[in-house]
This record gives sequence, structure tokens and C-alpha cells, in this order.
Amino acid sequence: MIIVPEREIAGLITPEAAFDAVENVFGAMARGEALNFPVIREAIGHADALYGFKSGFDRAGLVMGLKSGGYWPGNADKGLTNHQSTVILFDPDTGRATALVGGNLLTALRTAAAAAVSIRHLARPDAKVLGMIGAGHQSTFQMRAALAQRRFERVIGWNLHPERLSRLQEVAQEHDLPFEAVDLPQMREADVIITITSSFDPILMSDHVADGTHIASMGTDTKGKQELEPALVARARRFTDEVAQSVSIGECQHAVAAGLIGADDIAEIGAVINGTYPGREGAREVTLFDGTGVGLQDLAVAAAAVRLAGEKGVAIEVDF
Ligand code: NAD
Repeated sequence: MIIVPEREIAGLITPEAAFDAVENVFGAMARGEALNFPVIREAIGHADALYGFKSGFDRAGLVMGLKSGGYWPGNADKGLTNHQSTVILFDPDTGRATALVGGNLLTALRTAAAAAVSIRHLARPDAKVLGMIGAGHQSTFQMRAALAQRRFERVIGWNLHPERLSRLQEVAQEHDLPFEAVDLPQMREADVIITITSSFDPILMSDHVADGTHIASMGTDTKGKQELEPALVARARRFTDEVAQSVSIGECQHAVAAGLIGADDIAEIGAVINGTYPGREGAREVTLFDGTGVGLQDLAVAAAAVRLAGEKGVAIEVDF
């Protein structure tokens, strides 16, 4: 069995490698070659923690396994990241465990890659202004991956606590781009908007979004969370990583519950990647990617990490 510790991940997986792994597995999902199993995530009545696992099997890539972990709000006081996760991979021919991989940075990279994949396939080619909503841990990963997809000329940002926007400003400076903190209605200036918050109420209203915008809604990954006004979800053409998760734990759960859309009104982005379903149709359409976070993304980047760890000689091999 191979162990790839968390400390090695940064030296192994680039944002480009994460992008390729996620784009490939989304395509495999839409071809019916990769199965995503239902998510388990529960409040465990200890340490205020949420614990669970995401799992699946990619028959095309022969990657099988699970990511286990969750959210421990008291971790910051212990000098640890609140989100903790570990990936275990299994041999699909025998069921034997083959690898144990640190999953914290991988989660950040695969989530950023999912939004970036959506921007590559759905945003207008001439997109110039990137709008960021949210300035937490995940936001800088999302912003860096997004900036690689179009020739952005400016970044605008909003956060509940505006002082935290400085971390987005720093990323903009790294890319020689101007950054401006804005009120939500000013998001109409953005061509691409990424939402990455822990909100349980709508933040971005339909009035805040201009025609032709692509929205990557990445924060809503649990029942009850919400970032977008349902009318905005109804106005957009909707894409997701997996429809079953989109209507149950993703952003589309609210528009479905309100009777504005049904599951059939949401398409898998993998079908756009495979060229079997149309992507953006025209410069005035609003497109939405509801990125709920599928276990298959985690398995894809973990398998890449194991392969690269072997090549670079940093994998730890143990008898198991
Ligand atoms: P974080 O705790 O570091 O940051 C939380 C962000 O949400 C901050 O910007 C905060 O200001 C904002 N926020 C909190 N409550 C809000 C409210 N009521 N209204 C508006 N903004 C509010 O978290 P993070 O690691 O940056 O993750 C952000 C979100 O993304 C979380 O909800 C997390 O579960 C989710 N996430 C989703 C995926 C996925 O695959 N879809 C993957 C990782 C994280």
C-alpha cells in the first residue's frame, strides 16, 4: 500500500494536473463510465463536527475509493485546518486497499478545477471581468484557477466581512490585475462570477447579474446552504457535476423546491465536455455551473497524486 502524506501534495499536483483529472472524470460520468455514490454527511454530536464520506468508481480510469472527513470548527484553535479529509483508493480487481492520500489540499485544488472547467466550457470567450463572492480559505484557489481560463483584465470582489478581501487583492496583484471591492449590485460588471461562501441565504440576486454572465456557484454543498436567488437559477441555463447532488445538496435544490425547475432542466457538464450536449448558446445567455463536489473528483486527483508520487520517489510503501 502506498501512502502519500498531505505535506507532499503541493509538490505533486499542479492546478493544471487537477484541471485535467477533473475534466476527464466529468466526461467519464456523462458517458456512464464513472459512478458517483450517494454522499453521507452527518452531525456526529461531538466537537460540533460534521463527518461523512464521498465515494465512487471510475470504470474508465480504473479508480475506486472514497474520501472521508468533514468539518471540525474547533480545529483552528488547535492550529489545524477546519476541513479535514483523507482519500483511500482500492484495487477495482480485488478490493484491496492500494493507497492512503492526504485530501485537504486535493479538495481545494479539485474544487477550483471544477469551476475552471466550467469557465473553459461555458464562459464567453471575450470575458474580461471576474467577480468573486466570498473570501474564505477556498476563494484564492478558485480565483487562481479561474484567471488561467480567460484574458481577464479586472477582478471585483464582495465578502460579508470586506476586510478579508485583501487576500483576493493580493492574488490580483500577483497577476498584475486591478482589484476593486464592490457592493453586490455592481456584480453586473462581471462576465464570470464565482460564489464560494458558507451562506444559508441567497446573496446574489438576478438583478445583480448581467446577461451573458457565467456563474460558477461552488459554496452550496449541503442541504440548506444557498448562495443564489432561485429566480436567478431559473433564468440561467443550468449545468452541474451531477444532477442527483445538484437537486439534493447543490444550489439547484432551492429552485427545484420552489417548483421553478425540475431535475430534467439541469445538464451534466461532462456532456458539454464530450460534445454530446450544447454549451453556451449566444452571448446574452446566463450560464450556471452548480458545483456540488463529487467524490469522483477527489478520487481522480488522488490517483494522479499516487502516480506522480511514484514517479518522483516520494511515495511511502507499507505492508498492509
Ligand atoms: P471558509 O470558512 O474559509 O469561508 C467562508 C466564506 O463564506 C467567507 O467568505 C465568509 O465571509 C462567507 N460567509 C459565511 N457566512 C456567510 C453568509 N451568511 N453570507 C455571506 N457570506 C458568508 O470556507 P471555505 O473553505 O472558503 O469554503 C467556502 C464554502 O465552500 C463552504 O461552504 C464549503 O463547504 C464550500 N466548499 C464546497 C466545495 C464543493 O466542491 N462544492 C468544496 C470545498 C468547499
